Amino acid sequence: MTTHTPHSATHAKKPAQSGGSLLDVQHLHKAFGGNQAVNDVSFNLQAGELLALIGPNGAGKSTTFNLVNGQLAPDSGNMTLDGVSLLGRKPHELWRMGVSRTFQIAQTFGSLTVAENVQMALLSADGKSLSPWQRATHYRRADALALLEQVQLDAQADRPCSALAYGDVKRLELAMALANEPRLLLMDEPTAGMAPDERHALMALTRSLVNQRGVAVLFTEHSMDVVFEHADRVLVMARGALIAQGTPAQVQADAQVQSVYFGSGKTFGALHETQALHANTLTLREQP
Ligand code: ADP
Ligand code: MG
Repeated sequence: MTTHTPHSATHAKKPAQSGGSLLDVQHLHKAFGGNQAVNDVSFNLQAGELLALIGPNGAGKSTTFNLVNGQLAPDSGNMTLDGVSLLGRKPHELWRMGVSRTFQIAQTFGSLTVAENVQMALLSADGKSLSPWQRATHYRRADALALLEQVQLDAQADRPCSALAYGDVKRLELAMALANEPRLLLMDEPTAGMAPDERHALMALTRSLVNQRGVAVLFTEHSMDVVFEHADRVLVMARGALIAQGTPAQVQADAQVQSVYFGSGKTFGALHETQALHANTLTLREQP
């Protein structure tokens, strides 16, 4: 699990190919009662690719995300990682296979140092656990510091996690998610609650890790400026279905995407003006 698929310098805008995908998702369906939350969703993801999943509230993004990370089981469909089926596997099995997600740091970890949080993730990656009264202070400390250096947090290694600024907590989450040397990293709204500068800094950092490690990233995101600036490709969902996929430029130009987000007569150009006015993230809502 320590081997990484090498990335090429030209990976960034490489179109997805049907063969040789790292993650291949085919015809996923998931209903809650009569509500088809995910309806025939198919996509793939290559090593070294940053793929955004966007859509209005209730579109089915989180459900899709939770199907891929094993928290939910699909009603039908197929998912493979490097050709190996992911069906029926629990999150911890997926974690062993190299599927990681950004941790939401538990409150109890706030009293630990920044390094100890990463050390806890390393313990978990090694299939070990601690008794409640033990601390991970000495466990693979050099590896923890190396991970912190990658997210530019090494200078803060010995501070309590609770003392970190919000943007630094998100970096720490990223370092923890890298503890099992993932091939696929899943990030659900990684920049939620961040200021615009911090959002771009976090995604630029994510991009550099993608390039260095050849890891593939699937992330959901509300902030359109983040998506269009940083994603290689974008999947757009509405009412459970995938309505478009392509490069940021392609989906921005897509009439169906524009109509779902803005109704007729509005464009992403108008969105940018609105964003400039409010200087903040827009939470997108589906048009009636
Ligand atoms: P998004 O993340 O795009 O906002 P979700 O995947 O959370 O959308 O939700 C898609 C649809 O599935 C919504 O109609 C939502 O109400 C429904 N849904 C999501 N999770 C559940 C659940 N656990 N039980 C019942 N309905 C759910
Ligand atoms: Mg959601």
